[in-house]
This record gives sequence, C-alpha cells and structure tokens, in this order.
Amino acid sequence: MAEIRIDKLRHSYMANPQSEDDYALKRLSLTWQDGGAYALLGPSGCGKTTLLNLISGLLTPTEGTISFNGRDVSHASPEERNIAQVFQFPVIYDTMTVYDNLAFPLRNRGVPEDEIKTRVGEIAEMLELTRTLNNRASGLTADGKQKISLGRGLVRSDVNVIMFDEPLTVIDPHLKWQLRSKLKELHLRTKRTMIYVTHDQTEALTFADQVVVMNQGEVVQSGTPIELFEMPQHTFVGHFIGSPGMNVLPCEVRGGRAVFGGEAISVGNGEKATGKGRTEIGVRPEFISLANSGIAAEVIRVADAGRFRIVETRSHGHLVKLLVKEGEQVPTGQTFLAFDPEHTQIYEDGWMAGARR
Ligand code: ATP
Repeated sequence: MAEIRIDKLRHSYMANPQSEDDYALKRLSLTWQDGGAYALLGPSGCGKTTLLNLISGLLTPTEGTISFNGRDVSHASPEERNIAQVFQFPVIYDTMTVYDNLAFPLRNRGVPEDEIKTRVGEIAEMLELTRTLNNRASGLTADGKQKISLGRGLVRSDVNVIMFDEPLTVIDPHLKWQLRSKLKELHLRTKRTMIYVTHDQTEALTFADQVVVMNQGEVVQSGTPIELFEMPQHTFVGHFIGSPGMNVLPCEVRGGRAVFGGEAISVGNGEKATGKGRTEIGVRPEFISLANSGIAAEVIRVADAGRFRIVETRSHGHLVKLLVKEGEQVPTGQTFLAFDPEHTQIYEDGWMAGARR
C-alpha cells in the first residue's frame, strides 16, 4: 500500500487551455496516508472521475505531479501504478464461477494455486460469498455481481491503492446500507488505502475517515465528517452536506459581529472577517433554537422528519430552517431564533472568514 501525494495538479481536456475555465481540474494538492479510507465527494461534473483517472494513469496531467510513496508516477502506465479499481457496473466474467472470478487477478500474476485458494477463501468469507463459490456468476443478482467486483479489487495484497468509482449505483436501495457497512468493515480488517468516489453524502460520510469535497474542479474542503459538518469552510460544503443544508443569510460585518436584518449576531469568526466581498452568515439548522427573544422570525411550516421536526421560518425576508426535537413545542406565527455563536460563521465570497485556502 502507498501514501499518495498530489502536488499542484491541473488538468485540461483542451490542447491549449487559456483560462481557468478551460481546466476540468483547477489546482489540487493533497496527501493521502497509507492505509486511510478516503472519499471524493461532489456533484456531477465537478472533476471526480478526472482526478481518479489521473491517479490510475488513464490520463496524464497537464501540470503537477502524483507520487506513490515518494516516487513520481505522473507519467507511469496504469500497470506500473499497480492499482485495483472497482467501477459503477460490475466487471465480471459471467461464464466463470464465483471462485474463478475472484481468482482471476491472482492467476493473471502467476500466484501459486494454494495461495490463491487461501486468499479467495478469505475474501469470499468477508463478503459472505463462500456458499456461492462454485456457482456460475451469471446466476447472481446485481448486488451479488458487484460483491464479486469488490472481491476482485480486494483479493490482491500487492496493490498500492483500491479505488471505488460510485460502486453502489446498481445496488437496490435497501441493500445499499448493507454493502456500505461491509465496505467499511473491509477497510478496518484489511487496512488498505481506499479511495471512494461518490456524489452521495451518506456513502462518503459513512465510509471515509477523511472526505474531500469537490466543486467545479476545485477541492473546497478536505476533512473528517465531523469537521465538514461543524465547520464548513465554504458555503458549498454547508449546502451539500447535511439535510437540510446550512442556512446562508446575507449580512454586513460591523466591529467583529455580523448584522442580519439590522440585528447584531455573535459569530465564531468575527475577528477574522474583513467585511469585503459578498458577506454571509452560515448556520446549520441543528444550531438554531427557538427562543423568547433574539432574531425575529415567523413560523411558516413544520415538517415531520422522524426523531425531529424541520421548522421553516421567515426572518427579515429570508427562509431560515431549524430542527426541533420530537415533542418540543413549536409556536405558530411570530417567534424568535437564537443562533449558537460557536457554530455560526461569517463567509466572504463563499469562503469561511479566516479559513485556510
Ligand atoms: P460524474 O459524477 O458525472 O461522472 P465527475 O465529477 O466525475 O462527474 P468529470 O467526469 O471528471 O466529473 O468531469 C469534469 C469536467 O470535465 C466536466 O465539465 C466534463 O464535462 C469534462 N470532461 C470530462 N471528460 C471529458 C473528456 N473526455 N473530454 C472533454 N471534457 C471532459
């Protein structure tokens, strides 16, 4: 397994890129530790597949370098990089048995049959495929086939990294959580470096120790699921992660405080705000409560969401959502809101004031 270092990577599909907009991947530097579980999360078109293909060697970067354990592999072939990849759709041989499918990557490399038997046995056991080992793969369901694909990715012990590209796309929704927790368990048991690409926040946050959030060819934040939730470095992260997403409200900055609708609001990063550019307050629905005084608001709708309710209010002409626990009284009409200052931040042109960029 390997530490992966990406340094000032840029990629354009154009022969002569002129402006920033010509780059599918604008500029990216990060380090992934050996044995870590990482997710690349972002909406369609943000550059996830481009980055994956640059790492696997299917694409050569326009600028910058990729190193595995300190060795520059930016121009190395996919074979030299020694990566296992699991794709959206199962890549298996229907006419072969489950056993032969799992054994295939090892036989290809001339691994002795007794060692293959041990490895395939271990992987089949982890994926609960032991009882089907002698069955033809063609008879399996889509999730059974995708389990074989996962197994083929995991069976070799000599790969530098295993990359999963939206691997649960073809899986029935009610089985997704099973495979998701299975993958997490596999990471804990095998301690391989794994990179999981998805546009689904639940998949990313449940699988990865560290999530890299991308938008429009840029990394907007790389952090643990808790960091992304509690301290979104960009309003995009606040919107994209969480359900409902973070409230983003226009404000002015005066004396280290945010002023929203004429009311001064205490925030966590007031002293770092410059007041320049587009200034906004970001606060998640989880960190707003109903109060007897504070920010004036009107309750406009209450929706049940299981163990809590989502309360939609209007304050100074803006929609503000908050969560209340089941059983908590929600007034009708006029009320007041309190924002938790530690979890209320000022954003300037989308970026959290004082955020490292
Ligand atoms: P998705 O989840 O839809 O696969 P993504 O996040 O993986 O999206 P990419 O496929 O990496 O995003 O695409 C990033 C940008 O690069 C997009 O604007 C896309 O149109 C462009 N792009 C991707 N592949 C090519 C290509 N072969 N030639 C030209 N432009 C491309």
